[in-house]
Amino acid sequence: MEFIPNEQLRFLVQIQEKDSRILEIAEKQKILPDIIASLRVILEREEVNLSEAVTDHDNASKERRDLEGRLKDAEEKVRKLKGRISEIKTNKEYQALLKEIELAGQEKSDIEEKILILMEKIDVLNAVRTDKERIVAEEERKFKEEKEKIEKEFQQLSERLKEIESQKSVIVSQIDSKVISEYNRLISARRGLAVVLVKNEFCQGCHMRIPPQISTEIRKNDNIIHCLSCQRVLYWKPD
Ligand SMILES: [Zn+2]
Repeated sequence: MEFIPNEQLRFLVQIQEKDSRILEIAEKQKILPDIIASLRVILEREEVNLSEAVTDHDNASKERRDLEGRLKDAEEKVRKLKGRISEIKTNKEYQALLKEIELAGQEKSDIEEKILILMEKIDVLNAVRTDKERIVAEEERKFKEEKEKIEKEFQQLSERLKEIESQKSVIVSQIDSKVISEYNRLISARRGLAVVLVKNEFCQGCHMRIPPQISTEIRKNDNIIHCLSCQRVLYWKPD
């Protein structure tokens, strides 16, 4: 391959553009799984809220069934006690039985009152549960929608990446092997930035001033010239 410095410089500028774009896309792709994960956390939090609401509602319903069982027993007890009235012989026994009936009746109405209070509580818990079910369904829908959107974006970025990689390889094939290996060394040593503009006599990579005579050389865009401070390849673009 014939070595034409200014053409090589032009290739270096082009390949840097491709590599910057590749880096940018890779950065974008890197954060996408994190976005999905944080959306999943929101959904899972709502699912926990729902499962708590379901447990509260279920527990209250079970308590109501228990109380209804106890109410039946209390009613049965009152009925049996009343059935014994006809067997009573003495006034003393009669007074004692009346007292028992009164106590059993009191227990029965205590249970009835508890059931009424519990039914109001169950209504509230049921409304909370329904509300949480609605929220979870809504969050599930949103999560699914966002996830699909993000996965599609990821896919599009991958395709774009492939395109740029193949454009890059066309340029790489035209670059002198020493020049490209020096470029690759700089790319990894200088965090993805190996070829930079000189603006107002400052290196745009490390922001150090370029000596005037070198600056004059760079303006010709004729040779591969490195920054004395950061070693990046410098080039100049007219305003
Ligand atoms: Zn520099």
